[in-house]
Amino acid sequence: MSSRRNSTEFCTFCNKSRESVDHLIAGPPGIYICNECIELCNTIIGQEARRKKHDVGRGHAGRVPAPKEIKKELDRHVIGQEHAKKVLSVAVHNHYKRILSNTSSNGKVDDIEIEKSNILLIGPTGSGKTLLAKTLAKILDVPFAIGDATTLTEAGYVGEDVENILLRLVQAADYDLTRASKGIVFIDEIDKVGKTSQNVSITRDVSGEGVQQALLKILEGTSSNIPPQGGRKHPEQSYIQLDTTNILFICGGTFTGLQDIISKRVGKTLIGFHEDAGEMDIIEKGNLLEMVEVEDLVKFGLIPEFVGRLPVISALRPLAEEDLVKIMVEPKNAIIRQYQKFLETDGVKLTFNKEALRAIAKEAIKRETGARSLRSILEGFMLDAMFEIPSREDIKAIEVTKAMVTGDKPIVPVPSKKSKRA
Ligand code: ADP
Repeated sequence: MSSRRNSTEFCTFCNKSRESVDHLIAGPPGIYICNECIELCNTIIGQEARRKKHDVGRGHAGRVPAPKEIKKELDRHVIGQEHAKKVLSVAVHNHYKRILSNTSSNGKVDDIEIEKSNILLIGPTGSGKTLLAKTLAKILDVPFAIGDATTLTEAGYVGEDVENILLRLVQAADYDLTRASKGIVFIDEIDKVGKTSQNVSITRDVSGEGVQQALLKILEGTSSNIPPQGGRKHPEQSYIQLDTTNILFICGGTFTGLQDIISKRVGKTLIGFHEDAGEMDIIEKGNLLEMVEVEDLVKFGLIPEFVGRLPVISALRPLAEEDLVKIMVEPKNAIIRQYQKFLETDGVKLTFNKEALRAIAKEAIKRETGARSLRSILEGFMLDAMFEIPSREDIKAIEVTKAMVTGDKPIVPVPSKKSKRA
């Protein structure tokens, strides 16, 4: 009986029989749908809804956010770097306006070609370059991928192909190529592929110029053939084709030594015009990077065509002590808040006094890796406390002081032998 029933039950959509699918749901007499078709329908509906709700790049509000709105959102996540945030807000707004307005695919409006504004961020390690790029992608609600220029090689060398960065973007877009083609790609350590850079490696293109040439192509806009290897199975044959014309590339690097190149150029000009070498004193070191020009980057080792494809340049400042203190406490998922949350579950109220926060910031400055070292510093001196607290019911509140940060005083007092015995 049941075998007869089974043999007549087929999915009305794909015609698979009840035996070959996990579930078959009945509708009006003789109409069925299988779990696989339901899944497929859900994917289609999801994609459609996403597309309708906000076209790629229109942000969560369904339109390209104004530069001021972008900046306001950046302020919630990124401390300091006011100038960079302003420059980025304008550049990103223009980029998405350009590709989403009634322009043709080559960006022409009334025959005026608006060029794509890829961005170069120059600034010390841990000053927020990656965070800025990542946050922008979130604000615009576009897929985002990070690549490291030092792992890239010219075709034929051992190492990663430039296309692999694009593959990451396609994966971040869940293989939706329309979304991927309007995403943001952050390429870190771009200064390490300078022609004159002293990276010595036997396995990669040491000169770096080949990598710059390869990157140049995708920055300019090309139809890139991406090998889907490592990725999910894709119904299309061997390559995924992605047009990079509308992808926004943000390159970042520390550019150690660039300040000297700029100061030489600026210094010379000032001496030339004012015949007063003292003028150089008024230019602080931090300000110098903001005076960067194409010729400085070319001297540094980037090829002129490559610099030409990064028309928006912004310099980030090293984070000062008070910035680092803010980073620890202000952003929504600030590290101190995370620790407080951890200990809250053990019924312990954790606070840090101002001096303690300053001591952590001072230590981070010493390590010269900006905000990056904050977590490891905290983890270092908090370890014993985090080990001890969950099994200490007597502790209800902890105020971390400077002496605890420097290790002169334990955070959790060790119970005396007497009380242990008791
Ligand atoms: P970079 O790319 O400049 O080397 P990152 O953006 O990767 O630095 O920063 C590392 C981490 O430090 C970030 O994930 C973030 O938690 C923190 N951070 C760095 N700069 C800032 C900043 N300006 N504001 C808030 N957090 C920051």
